Amino acid sequence: MAVLSRLALTASFALSASAAGLGGSWQQSPLTSPSSLSSSQGSKPLISTEALQEAISIDALVERAQKFYKFAQTSEEDYGHPTRVIGSTGHERTLNYIVNTLLDQGDYYTISTQEFPVTLSNVFESQLVLGSSVSKSAVPMGLTPATRDREPVHGQLVLVNNDGCHDSDYPKNVKGNIAFIRRGACAFGDKSIGAGKAGAKAAVIYNTDPEELHGTLGEPTKYHVATFGIDGTEGNAVAEKLAKGESVSAIAYIDAEVKQIQTVNVLAQTDEGDPDNCVMLGGHSDGVAEGPGINDDGSGSMSVLEVAVQLAKFKVNNCVRFAWWAAEEEGLLGSDFYAASLSEEENQKIRLFMDYDMMASPNFAYQIYNATNAYNPAGSEELRDLYVDWYKSQGLNYTFIPFDGRSDYDGFIRAGIPAGGIATGAEAVKTKEEEEMFGGHAGQWLDPCYHQICDDLGNLNHTAWEVNTKLIAHSVATYALSFDGFPKREQETKISSYSETIKQHGPKLIM
Ligand SMILES: [Zn+2]
Repeated sequence: MAVLSRLALTASFALSASAAGLGGSWQQSPLTSPSSLSSSQGSKPLISTEALQEAISIDALVERAQKFYKFAQTSEEDYGHPTRVIGSTGHERTLNYIVNTLLDQGDYYTISTQEFPVTLSNVFESQLVLGSSVSKSAVPMGLTPATRDREPVHGQLVLVNNDGCHDSDYPKNVKGNIAFIRRGACAFGDKSIGAGKAGAKAAVIYNTDPEELHGTLGEPTKYHVATFGIDGTEGNAVAEKLAKGESVSAIAYIDAEVKQIQTVNVLAQTDEGDPDNCVMLGGHSDGVAEGPGINDDGSGSMSVLEVAVQLAKFKVNNCVRFAWWAAEEEGLLGSDFYAASLSEEENQKIRLFMDYDMMASPNFAYQIYNATNAYNPAGSEELRDLYVDWYKSQGLNYTFIPFDGRSDYDGFIRAGIPAGGIATGAEAVKTKEEEEMFGGHAGQWLDPCYHQICDDLGNLNHTAWEVNTKLIAHSVATYALSFDGFPKREQETKISSYSETIKQHGPKLIM
């Protein structure tokens, strides 16, 4: 298991950076480029959206994708397959490549890193036996501890009353047995804590609808017990038996390790342009452990990087700030950390944040987050409409998708900063209507390899990727040139209605 260390990063950054002072916070740790590559903005043409879009080519993107895949392959020794998950050499190489590519742009950007801690859990092996059969839908919850001594534990399933959100919901005989808890009303982590406090050896949370339950317990506590999610079909059958007073025994087994590592967000800001009015954009540099993460979010990371490289040929009026977030897949940790650590003064300098996560899904739809000013900071809707107008101008169809906390815009909205973005789809099933609008295959996932081993070089739709990278270029060029007509930042924020509707925080459900 390779651990991303500050030393390893510093050592490799030093190869191309004359003075790589790494670590500390975003303002404190600029990485400097070799002075021989210095290039002033003076002689460059002023940014124009046509020129920046023109500079985007699919060939350059695909070349970057081949590199990302090679980085993922360096993790094979530790993981048995290619991955760019946090803590892997694949992720470390990704970060180095992003930084080195930015350093190659001479003094156009001030590049920095922001270090933060991440709690990780690796599940090595797991099994849940319900009665006499192995559960087909059991999935260990994210950040679950192992079962005791990393060995199977045996007990009776005990049906917990109500939703298991209060200590009083746990019958006495949970002690020494396995708590069986319905999904809903409070976070999975709270249910696991309730089971642990009541003395359960393990907990099983069952879904209220037929789907599998992929959730996370959130930050570990000493009360968490080994916890599985199961689907509603299996869950309801068992719950009915238990409710009738029948006994069902179970064996739970999770071999896992939970540990903390340090990782980094990479940031780059234009030296020129009004530093008090910044347009910010980002994608996430990490992927999941299950696969190489070339579409999720290799594609967005590379689109943002390619736009950064092409932007360096132009002069800007407003500052442009790029971000590559780490630990998105662990629950938006990098972007949360960044947005939450902004001082009020720094917060106000960010006019908007644009999120670019999954730009090239094979069975794509052109999706725009339906971010409105009624529920989000003012400006979110103007950004949404910029995407709408562009797709219309290209004669392309688009759909609105919920702005529901699934990606890195979440921390910005919560910090009162207008945000939005585009995507091409994950595990949503393509509808007949979407097939008519975008082609592809109705009845299949928009990204059939979402969070799987096959999210590789074959998992990129080149048409969608090029189209969307041109749209990213358009979004950057528009605001780098001018914020005319774009709402000024408001001091007070409108996030309460937003927070109330959010059930996700990143790719995993929290309740
Ligand atoms: Zn993603």
